Amino acid sequence: PDDDVDDIAVSGGADELYAVFLENVSERRNFERMRRDFVTNVSHELKTPAGAISLLAETVSDAAEDPDAVRYFSGRISKESERLTELVQKLIALQKVQNDEGLAAADRRPVDVPQVVREALDENAVQADAANIELRMYVGDDTVGVQTNEANDTADGTEADRAGRSGGMDGDAADGTAEPAYEPMIVEGDADAIKTAVKNLVENAVHYSPKGTHVGVSVKQEGGFVRIRVIDQGIGIPVEAQSRIFERFYRVDPARSRETGGTGLGLAITKHIVQEAGGTIDVWSRPGEGSTFTITLPVASGENHSND
Ligand code: ADP
Repeated sequence: PDDDVDDIAVSGGADELYAVFLENVSERRNFERMRRDFVTNVSHELKTPAGAISLLAETVSDAAEDPDAVRYFSGRISKESERLTELVQKLIALQKVQNDEGLAAADRRPVDVPQVVREALDENAVQADAANIELRMYVGDDTVGVQTNEANDTADGTEADRAGRSGGMDGDAADGTAEPAYEPMIVEGDADAIKTAVKNLVENAVHYSPKGTHVGVSVKQEGGFVRIRVIDQGIGIPVEAQSRIFERFYRVDPARSRETGGTGLGLAITKHIVQEAGGTIDVWSRPGEGSTFTITLPVASGENHSND
């Protein structure tokens, strides 16, 4: 009987070890599978525009006699190469945020969120203009910047005009000397990365919205958190896709996404950046009505929480 007890004790321990071993094996397998899928996806994504470029180049040379055709196909070649460039840039960005083992202490700085959001909006202004979409910024309970479509209609599109209008985001476009009209809200992180995260969301909001709608970006301090909401009146995201859109290369409608220059990487990058800053990101959406993406970041320690 004693032997039996020993056996049980030993085999119990071994079972446990074996279970841990199996868990490790399956974790490793999962990781390997994800890595393989990723490489397959990257190859596929790179091959598509590369293949198109070589086909189009052949077509151009066949159509050399026809200037209109040459113009048309050259335009498409530029578009496809822009796509390639964007893809490579996004892959590098993703690689960077995925490999960071936490931000180096030196990169962790106080970040004034409204300031960063304003810059992100300014950098999306040209794209929004082109899509005839109005960008609005709200800080706390105030509207601090509206880029109106009426302004677009009268604009002559010069750089000076554009600078004047985007300067309007801080409430005083004319002399550019006014201090921002909003209170600071400080989190801790890498300002450039947080700007990229917001830019990706605004870029998507513009991409997936019809002309003539508006995109609102609000920044609010709620207790110990700063919330950035990007709200659009666009096509929306089906419920079953909402949990998957943060995966690398996942797109609800690959054809539409490609057409609008999408890579399927933007939200994956954004999520990594937000997590790096100790925050979370979530989405609310109803197809046909629009989407709201919310980034929640903890207020930097030492900042007061008086805006509760
Ligand atoms: P993409 O480059 O394709 O836009 P993202 O990773 O940024 O890649 O987004 C993944 C997918 O999520 C998009 O292809 C699109 O289907 C969906 N999506 C993201 N943002 C929005 C939005 N604001 N409105 C509707 N669909 C969106």
